Amino acid sequence: MTSSNSPSTSTEILDGALDTSVDRAIELLRADRLIGLPTETVYGLAGLASSKLAVRKVFVVKKRPLDHPLILHIASYEDLDNWAQDIPEYARVICKRIWPGPLTIVLRRTNKVCDEITGGRETVAIRVPNHEVALRLLRKLDDGVVAPSANRFGKVSPTTAQHVVDDLGSDVSAVLDGGVCLIGIESTILDCTLSTPQLLRPGAISTEQIRDICGVAVEESSGESRASGMLEKHYAPNCRVELAETHVDAEVRLEILKADNRTAQILDFSGDLALFAANLYSSLRQADTQGIQVVVVVVPPAIGLGVAIRDRLAKASQATSL
Ligand code: AMP
Ligand code: MG
Repeated sequence: MTSSNSPSTSTEILDGALDTSVDRAIELLRADRLIGLPTETVYGLAGLASSKLAVRKVFVVKKRPLDHPLILHIASYEDLDNWAQDIPEYARVICKRIWPGPLTIVLRRTNKVCDEITGGRETVAIRVPNHEVALRLLRKLDDGVVAPSANRFGKVSPTTAQHVVDDLGSDVSAVLDGGVCLIGIESTILDCTLSTPQLLRPGAISTEQIRDICGVAVEESSGESRASGMLEKHYAPNCRVELAETHVDAEVRLEILKADNRTAQILDFSGDLALFAANLYSSLRQADTQGIQVVVVVVPPAIGLGVAIRDRLAKASQATSL
């Protein structure tokens, strides 16, 4: 295994539309190899859940600290009881309604979940991804996969197969190409181990949606159960990310930066939240490719998906400096 960042010639790019590609990906997973897996949120770095070796490789390739447990991806709600126990009724209601979908729930694990996945915790984070290619693979696999975002720890998540190759090179054996991720930011994470759900990370499924589905209000996490998305520095491109509340504020800032001989650009999706989420990471990657030093982002309103976008932007802006 190399730690090269350069694009690899040995990574297989598999056309996700073909059954033969899914079969090849399964063959690699069963041989403890890692693959790039498309989901509706971002591309995952997938390893077989029952393979301790594969799970350990995921931490090594991502350079991820071992105390940041991985999300287990399974084929369907019907499979949930194999991996989790003591599931509160409200959690069942939420999963039945939202899965497959961009919601991860944390539950008490069964002994089918190995220590390597959870960092020794008695809880496990689980979701069913809403992507045709991922679902076809999971249904055929008769196992789960761990699949954190397919980037090095702390960096911007990949939303295309090419991003995965750009980031991980030959550290990933193959990438199933399932096109551009439709949502573009990571799943909502909900701790369901208590009598009321606690939000660990905002995502495309809002707390209002969850409350409306299960009739129980979602609380902000007390900070006890940490999620890597809760770290202050995360989702960081190489460029500096600055936040502006309005387009005029962004223009003023751009002028100041240019007068200071910085290469800078504005990112403004005019409050179109779905477009914003879908294009955020690829726009930041493009800025890096172009050698832009500062990206001034006009932040969206803190409603619905805007809450999750603001969360990622806040972390990206804290992580970057000139
Ligand atoms: P990522 O794989 O970077 O999208 O992040 C997955 C998130 O799920 C991380 O923030 C993990 O810390 C979180 N997570 C995974 N397992 C657990 C768990 N047992 N309890 C709390 N959070 C978890
Ligand atoms: Mg990640």
